[in-house]
Amino acid sequence: MAWRDVMCGELRAADAGRRVTVAGWVDTRRDHGGLVFIDLRDHTGKIQLVLKESDTAHELRNEFVVQAEGEVVARGAGAVNPNLSTGEVEIQVDELRILSRSAPLPFQLDDENVDENTRLRYRWLDMRTERMQRNLRISHTAVAGMRRTMDDLGFVDVWTPSMTRGTPEGARDFLVPVRLQPGKFFALAQSPQLFKQLCMVGGIDRYYQIATCWRDEDLRADRQFEFRQLDLEMAFVEQPEVLDVMEAAVVGAFEAVGKTPPPRPFPQIAYDDAMLRFGSDKPDRRFGMEIQDATEITRGSEFGVFKNAPCVRYIVVPKTFSRSEHERLEGFAKEWGAKGLAMLSQISKFLSEAELASFGVAEGETAFFVADEQEVVEKVLGLLRLEVAGELGLIPETDVFHWVVDFPLFKRDEETGAWTFMHHPFTAPAPGTDGWDESNPEGVRGQHYDLVWNGWELGSGSIRIHDVDMQQRVFRTMGLGEEEQSDKFGFLLEALAMGAPPHGGFAMGIDRFCARLAGEPDIRQMNAFPKISSGSDPLTGAPTPYTDVALKELGIRLVEPPA
Ligand code: ASP
Repeated sequence: MAWRDVMCGELRAADAGRRVTVAGWVDTRRDHGGLVFIDLRDHTGKIQLVLKESDTAHELRNEFVVQAEGEVVARGAGAVNPNLSTGEVEIQVDELRILSRSAPLPFQLDDENVDENTRLRYRWLDMRTERMQRNLRISHTAVAGMRRTMDDLGFVDVWTPSMTRGTPEGARDFLVPVRLQPGKFFALAQSPQLFKQLCMVGGIDRYYQIATCWRDEDLRADRQFEFRQLDLEMAFVEQPEVLDVMEAAVVGAFEAVGKTPPPRPFPQIAYDDAMLRFGSDKPDRRFGMEIQDATEITRGSEFGVFKNAPCVRYIVVPKTFSRSEHERLEGFAKEWGAKGLAMLSQISKFLSEAELASFGVAEGETAFFVADEQEVVEKVLGLLRLEVAGELGLIPETDVFHWVVDFPLFKRDEETGAWTFMHHPFTAPAPGTDGWDESNPEGVRGQHYDLVWNGWELGSGSIRIHDVDMQQRVFRTMGLGEEEQSDKFGFLLEALAMGAPPHGGFAMGIDRFCARLAGEPDIRQMNAFPKISSGSDPLTGAPTPYTDVALKELGIRLVEPPA
């Protein structure tokens, strides 16, 4: 006998008269003079069961798993429930079996005030909610759409190892000790970057993978230790072809979940332009309020704060602000690293007619200025723009995708000041910028591109270096000597020296993308079993200490016992 022959959410008025068997979870129970009403739930919805009073009916509690058999009957006109898809009918049950009981619940599924750790601790209960059912199914459908697109475009799904050498993606590695090689460690792949490049050298041409990546970074709304990305690589391509494929994958995912896809081609913005106008390399372009530069005009200013600052920029907000509102925003600006936040109305007496005219601030508007090092100005005004637009409700509900292109190839390491990579060290320089002075690569551009959706960076990619001399030049610029190069990347240099085709690729974070699709504020809601910000898993209790015996086998002794 089948456990069920129809799903709870499927029954409609036309099914009246059918004899059916349903199975699912007790969502609610109500006793009414001689009758017991149950809403029975599975992932398709709920159906009302009507039971005659019996010992079994009385035993039922929320989240018991039951099987019920009976006749579908139309509800009387006054009893139709417009809030349920099955609200026109109910099942008059004559056979009821309890398949599984539930211990008292740590929280009611529909209670919206349960803290997240409790939900994650009992994730199997949380997963029964409509929200989690929806999120996990949206993820599935979107990924299926991406896979279909990749398959249609002739991409080959190649599995690459998780346990490998450290891959430089700008995060710390998770290490895996090995019993057979005591004292040595694998790193969990921060991405399949080098393996996918080797696939190109190996003649695969079009590689993709829904790849799990591991990065030891602080956890945030858009960051987990482990996450999946749509990872792809293509041989014999230029940048526009890679962007074209990624756009197709995004559109394929939108269509799969039944959402209107963004129009193609996605617009592009140059990195410098993004930093100037939006103060961010992942600008939210759903609204204007762009940052304006006032550095030139304030060089000769009477106002010392402006005159002496390396960079002066401002945003114009369509509202006037009281003193206390200004102070609150200035508080944020200081937290973000600014010395202050000047409001035009307060400083206009120090400024010349020419300066005031150039700012173009109209009646009812407010200009906020930051004067500082360029990086500080960019960061503070970029964040202020988002904060103010959010507070004033100026961000429309639309989907704006765009590419950020023309990134610098190198940047200064924040701690050491040494030159390091912007994306990763395998990104090719832009054509015509490849003859740089290795001690000062300032201004060298890379063929690197990022995809941004409403201010979320979805992923990055680049055209790669396929010439061994160029690869070594980039390594040298980053201060990697011959020995270190061959120790860390010898296999790559060898592969590049044995017939490497021109190639490039991209990787898009799937959880970030799906969170946006589902309208969720953080990726934990898209992940069946996520970790929390302390870096642990409330459900299994991992990570846990290991016994000395197990550690000894791995050649590991702890310096001091963990607190
Ligand atoms: N490996 C890069 C990343 O994981 C993506 C790429 O360059 O294809 O961000």
